Amino acid sequence: TERSLVLVKPDGFARGLTGEVLRRIEAKGYTLVALSVLTADPERLARHYAEHEGKSFYDGLVEFMSSGPLTAIVIEGDRSIEGFRSLAGATDPTKAAPGTIRGDLGRDWGPGVQKNIVHGSDSLDSAQREIGIWFPDLAG
Ligand code: ATP
Repeated sequence: TERSLVLVKPDGFARGLTGEVLRRIEAKGYTLVALSVLTADPERLARHYAEHEGKSFYDGLVEFMSSGPLTAIVIEGDRSIEGFRSLAGATDPTKAAPGTIRGDLGRDWGPGVQKNIVHGSDSLDSAQREIGIWFPDLAG
């Protein structure tokens, strides 16, 4: 089994979609390990998005992600990293397939594809790194 770090981003949180995201995670059969509502500071987001530093969308992304509360979640289950990425759908919510979180609930709110409701870890390495950033007590 493996764990993944999921965020309901500030756009999803403000739209009241946390419950809908949790419903889909539980319906898929993944277990909730940890859940926290918080407003992230830019330092934490700089660690989370370190791989994107220097990209054109980076500053705006950190500003948006620190603009209001979000929900940080750790889920667990066999292949839950890949599985949640499938639940989330493509990065661009306009292109994301219907049936996915982004495809069913997202649209183009500009700028770019910043407001796409959720984040999910994309590999075992990033899941472990990200869980350490959002839930230091679970690291290890
Ligand atoms: P995530 O890692 O959040 O699950 P992802 O893997 O689908 O998303 P990445 O390419 O890793 O997408 O980008 C991380 C996040 O940065 C995206 O989810 C989106 O919020 C934002 N982002 C990516 N590209 C752009 C862009 N061109 N303009 C604005 N924001 C962007």
